[in-house]
Amino acid sequence: MDGFYWFKFKGFLIFLLSFVALTELKMTLIDTHSHIYLPEFEPDRKLMLERAEKEGVKQIVMPAIDCNTHDAMLRVERENPGVCYSMMGLHPCSVKGNYATELKVAREYMEKKSFKAVGEIGLDFYWDKTYTEQQYATFHEQIEWALHYNLPVVIHSRNSTDECINVVKDHQNGSLKGVFHCFSGNSEQANQIISLGFYLGIGGVLTYKKSGLDTIMEKIDLDYLVLETDAPYLAPVPFRGKRNESGYIKYIAQKLAEIKNNTLEEIARVTTKNAINLFGEF
Ligand SMILES: [Zn+2]
Repeated sequence: MDGFYWFKFKGFLIFLLSFVALTELKMTLIDTHSHIYLPEFEPDRKLMLERAEKEGVKQIVMPAIDCNTHDAMLRVERENPGVCYSMMGLHPCSVKGNYATELKVAREYMEKKSFKAVGEIGLDFYWDKTYTEQQYATFHEQIEWALHYNLPVVIHSRNSTDECINVVKDHQNGSLKGVFHCFSGNSEQANQIISLGFYLGIGGVLTYKKSGLDTIMEKIDLDYLVLETDAPYLAPVPFRGKRNESGYIKYIAQKLAEIKNNTLEEIARVTTKNAINLFGEF
């Protein structure tokens, strides 16, 4: 190759590389549901967050569980301003005999500072049905908080999708917004949730062979979907069964791109827009 052509080739190479770098930079993902404050991340949280940033994850929204984890969650938020954002609420699996105290504590936090959402809240009939009545009461009350503070709700609905849809229906006065996190219902339920003005949270389950979620998602418009990892749980393929982390959201986005026959960039753009629409600017 003589000097002139080498010069031109070099120019082309630089153009190509900067184009690749630019499109990489442009892809932004938001992990809308991630428990990265849990002890599972104590040994390497900083490295895990760096890996997530490299994959384009700009923000991570952290759902609360109960009094045992509020402090840890708020600490991670303080240590990572502009990246990690907290919700506040009482998880349905933590609704036990002391639920009134738990609610009081959560409500006091909400008076003190702002949060991205009331969550995660809802009903869980998979693990334990002892406190069904209290789960309902807690769910109803926390939806009222969301309406009062004008915040979205993040709903956990394990073995209780229809029941949660009905509770949302009771409260939907046109201003309630939210997401059914880790959506795993059928097409009819998906459409009901959408018609209530809610989003569907899509995570690692989408990559599981027998979940059936892929066929349901084929027919659901991207405009109603947000992405989430639910880390440290529900890691997507190829990490199924391992500890999940925010950077793995890429595998969920890729799977969705395949299902929707769309580009990864477009999946990232639309789901990020949806997340901002739901949680507000970050
Ligand atoms: Zn969760």
